[in-house]
Amino acid sequence: MKRVSIFGATGSIGQSTIDLIKRDAGAYDVVALSGGANVAQLAEDARALAADVAVTAYPDKLDELRAALAGSGVVAAAGTEALIEAAERPADWVMSAIVGAAGLTPGIKALEQGATLALANKESLVTAGALMLGTAKTHGAQLLPVDSEHSAIFQALRGEDIASVEKITITASGGAFRDWSLEDMARATPEQAASHPNWDMGQRITIDSASMFNKALEVIETKEFFGVLPAQIEVLVHPESLIHALVGFKDGAQMAHVGAPDMRHAIGYALHYPERRDLPVARLDLAKVGQLTFSAPDPQKYPALRLAWDVMEMGGLSGCVFNAAKEIALDGFIDHKIGFLEMAIIVEDTLTKMSGDTALLYADMTLDTVNAVDQEARRVAAALIKKREG
Ligand code: NAD
Ligand code: MG
Repeated sequence: MKRVSIFGATGSIGQSTIDLIKRDAGAYDVVALSGGANVAQLAEDARALAADVAVTAYPDKLDELRAALAGSGVVAAAGTEALIEAAERPADWVMSAIVGAAGLTPGIKALEQGATLALANKESLVTAGALMLGTAKTHGAQLLPVDSEHSAIFQALRGEDIASVEKITITASGGAFRDWSLEDMARATPEQAASHPNWDMGQRITIDSASMFNKALEVIETKEFFGVLPAQIEVLVHPESLIHALVGFKDGAQMAHVGAPDMRHAIGYALHYPERRDLPVARLDLAKVGQLTFSAPDPQKYPALRLAWDVMEMGGLSGCVFNAAKEIALDGFIDHKIGFLEMAIIVEDTLTKMSGDTALLYADMTLDTVNAVDQEARRVAAALIKKREG
């Protein structure tokens, strides 16, 4: 039996992972599940899968979780330390599906015990790519991509030599505001930004899709995961979201990964890797689809993309600054403190403000330095938001 843990089990990716596991429950020994405020969902899944431990991120939810798990034999736990302890429990396959930099430490702990880490949490690779890859290497652990674009690239690269790759193209739907004017985007509300035309995802990543901060994170994720140069990466707007990525080789061929927009494909691919098994995803009828369309992203509408290349150029811990500032800017937008287009301004200003502190930005990458830079970036971004409000 495969021992599995799922961090962020109550979210969109976590629930899709559980859906796949429940279809073949006898094949898995579930070690740990983690969630946030939705304790009822967490307890229901932990009971159904007979998990060893269920962890809520919120200590004030522990009593509720305990009550919901009474008599089940599942241990209830809460808080950051409990999350780390759960990630240290031996498992063969760990899904990293917490949203934001909060997913970093549990991911590192899972790699340290040698687990295969299925990485939905792109923020951890953007925040601390070298640390994650180094930890995986030291402990003989494998990192598998779960982001649909990166799973597509990974699949297109199977059996290929990375040295023969010329270009990697990741597609973007264009998000909720693809056809909106810049003026309308400036007035967009969080509710409008949180509705996605093709994918059904968590609120934060959906808003990040509308701003293309999600794509910006994915560009950096591509560089970290596959070790290509920033100049080899390209973003292509593809409203149908059926081609997830293309890999171009030096002989002129391009391998495109085509499939229905359903994250259970990428999750299932990582779950069964290196095998391919049946997955409950819709099969595409391209004759019905008829046509696919493509365009270059508008740099005016999507400044986040330019920032991704700035960050790759800066290197060091600038990815950590970028992600942390983005998380605070997103909070500010969701809380109606700043407008939609101001998110990129906050992130850019945070990067500029912190770029002078080379001792901080180019320190050795450890969990401690990453956390210090993350905290400082959050402080700077929050102060910038306060200034704009006042
Ligand atoms: P979500 O908001 O639906 O779920 C997030 C999960 O993380 C929940 O279980 C929540 O309880 C938990 N969580 C939130 N904050 C936490 C904290 N501070 N500490 C511990 N746990 C916390 O998010 P999602 O859409 O499932 O996305 C999860 C991750 O997968 C993100 O990194 C996202 O970028 C990535 N991803 C998602 C999709 C998708 O289709 N949803 C696609 C590609 C990548
Ligand atoms: Mg993606």
